[in-house]
Amino acid sequence: MSDKLKEARQYLMNYSGPGLRVMEVCGTHTHEIFRLGLRQLLPDQVKVISGPGCPVCVTPADYIDEAVWLGLEKGVTLCTFGDLVRVPGSEKSLAAARAEGARVQVVYSPADAVDYAAAHPETQVVFLSVGFETTVPASCFALEKAEREGVDNFSLLTANKTMPQAYQALKGTADVFLYPGHVNAITGTGLCRKLAEEEGISGVVAGFTARELLTAFVVILKKYEEGKPFFVNAYPRVVKEEGSPAGLAMMDHYMEACDAEWRGLGTIAGSGLKLRDQYAAFDARIRFAVPKMEARTNPACRCGEVLKGACLPTDCPVFGKGCTPLHPVGACMVSGEGACSAYYQYGGLLEKKGRSDKNED
Ligand code: SF4
Repeated sequence: MSDKLKEARQYLMNYSGPGLRVMEVCGTHTHEIFRLGLRQLLPDQVKVISGPGCPVCVTPADYIDEAVWLGLEKGVTLCTFGDLVRVPGSEKSLAAARAEGARVQVVYSPADAVDYAAAHPETQVVFLSVGFETTVPASCFALEKAEREGVDNFSLLTANKTMPQAYQALKGTADVFLYPGHVNAITGTGLCRKLAEEEGISGVVAGFTARELLTAFVVILKKYEEGKPFFVNAYPRVVKEEGSPAGLAMMDHYMEACDAEWRGLGTIAGSGLKLRDQYAAFDARIRFAVPKMEARTNPACRCGEVLKGACLPTDCPVFGKGCTPLHPVGACMVSGEGACSAYYQYGGLLEKKGRSDKNED
């Protein structure tokens, strides 16, 4: 460990300033902070809470219901990333639908789904487009590819979301947000800077290595002690002020803002992305006249509260009992980026340190 890292580590361990709640809004951060043992370094007055940073976790059950309906009632081939397959819908997951005959194809990129559609012209292929600004450009690229190659048996079922509106909706639940570096790599820093200047919402953009996360936490604690709202980009090697102009242009060409339903947070105005009218032919909801679904979730599951930092995964009565990564009850236990999955995988580390990591505020 370099001298600088040792110094940062020491600073965090010896911090004696005011208490605060830091919310990670990125599933990768949640897991890396656990894996690197950062929670154990922090003094008790610094609480790290998880927010709605896992795209699969914030996708509501009625989206899964729509996909299940398309697979079973319309006989389309559903192309999806693997972590969505076991997320429970109101009655069944995609895995259960597959057991009943639905065609569910795991792909590694939206472009793979276009290739699959081109190779299987006898079937309609729907890509399940779930994710934040990080992954939306790839869905748009797939549309461009489908247009260019004349693949007309391809469409998207969208549940894409944008993060800044979620930060606004979560104002007050945390003192500082740890912003996801890969989202800001696309969006740039302007929106987060504006949140600090106009809304008093503090945050720091962080990378994902031990050095980058340690640096981000040192910046958070030092700036918080100054007592004023702040924004700092602590991931400058990747995140630029302007973001990714090419990615933003691609999103703007195909998509426009809409209201979106977030598991746990409800409907947040302007926080979603839908296809523009001129691309309605690629919209699976329109192409197949998908009916409105009325979602039901397991009453035992507290994913909604976990996702807004209102409770810890370990506060859920079925955590580690009825709900495990092998037999998940809620979305937060399914995804590799989910908070419940992280607590299940690494929670023992907290117990070894002799503290519960309770959010007492
Ligand atoms: S432990 Fe399972 S049921 Fe409970 S909140 Fe997490 S995912 Fe939902």
